[in-house]
Amino acid sequence: MRLITRMARSFVAGDTNAEAIQAVAELRSQGIMSTLDVLGESVKDRNTAEKAVAAYLELLDVIKAAGSDAHISLKLTQQGLDIDTEYCYQNVRRIVQKAGSLGTFVRIDMEGTPHTQRTLDLFSRLRQEFDNVGIVIQAYLYRSEKDINDLNKIGAKVRLCKGAYKEPKELAIKKMKDIRANYMKLAASLFREGVYPAIATHDFKLIALTKDYVAAHSIPNDKFEFQFLYGIRKKSFQKLAAEGYRVRCYVPFGTHWLPYNLRRLRERKENVWFVIKNLFKR
Ligand SMILES: Cc1cc2nc3c(=O)[nH]c(=O)nc-3n(C[C@H](O)[C@H](O)[C@H](O)COP(=O)(O)OP(=O)(O)OC[C@H]3O[C@@H](n4cnc5c(N)ncnc54)[C@H](O)[C@@H]3O)c2cc1C
Repeated sequence: MRLITRMARSFVAGDTNAEAIQAVAELRSQGIMSTLDVLGESVKDRNTAEKAVAAYLELLDVIKAAGSDAHISLKLTQQGLDIDTEYCYQNVRRIVQKAGSLGTFVRIDMEGTPHTQRTLDLFSRLRQEFDNVGIVIQAYLYRSEKDINDLNKIGAKVRLCKGAYKEPKELAIKKMKDIRANYMKLAASLFREGVYPAIATHDFKLIALTKDYVAAHSIPNDKFEFQFLYGIRKKSFQKLAAEGYRVRCYVPFGTHWLPYNLRRLRERKENVWFVIKNLFKR
């Protein structure tokens, strides 16, 4: 467990708002913007969901008080999606409304396929009322091409990632080569018809292909951004920022870090080896 805790430290900015804001300030000094995530997901009771809403409302005040331009990211299952859709909508609406009044942008993360449609529906409903809300699309899902076409029509701001959940082969592309190809196809659709895409990947090939694409299509650097996860390949993203690209770090913090860290462990076999090797060293 100590090993997992040690690994958690590298992917998570700390437990508290103060630690998160300090991480945001450090990133800012390196030319990198942030989106803050209060860790939590799969909430099954209203008391916990309401604590999560309160944590985000408080975080918005903290961001404002710090004079920061950080965004926030949240997961719908943390806000009560598994309890009741309307209840979740009202919770997230409160956060998006307050964020809007403070000039802050809210990104709704995408979770596993049991939640995909409900996440998109809830987002579309919020989008009718608010501009300061965006969504995430996963390039490994077969359905994503159609979802992106629909989202482009409503002027949605999309973060494009590969996808981090264990999905059945009927729903998700499995070969990395094919996921990459779909990623670039979806990215091109976002650049052509979407609004301010966020290219969220640590994959050097995809980053290089994106740089080539924007250069070939004369897309200015202020029309999109690169995004990365706290604790992963930071130096490369500092370099991208120094080259003049907009770069944002996803900064998770809080005490509910286990599921987030297990996804980080699973997506890279070296991380699993690190844990196993250290277990045998003891
Ligand atoms: C800003 C951001 C937001 C995201 N939001 C979501 C979301 O809402 N929903 C969702 O399903 N997924 C989300 N993801 C995760 C994403 O779907 C992938 O699981 C994750 O980014 C790994 O894929 P990759 O594109 O970075 O490429 P990979 O091919 O997995 O990684 C490329 C290289 O990056 C490094 N790397 C990647 N992952 C790790 C790791 N865990 N530990 C150490 N090094 C690593 C390694 O050097 C690896 O070789 C998000 C990712 C980012 C960057």
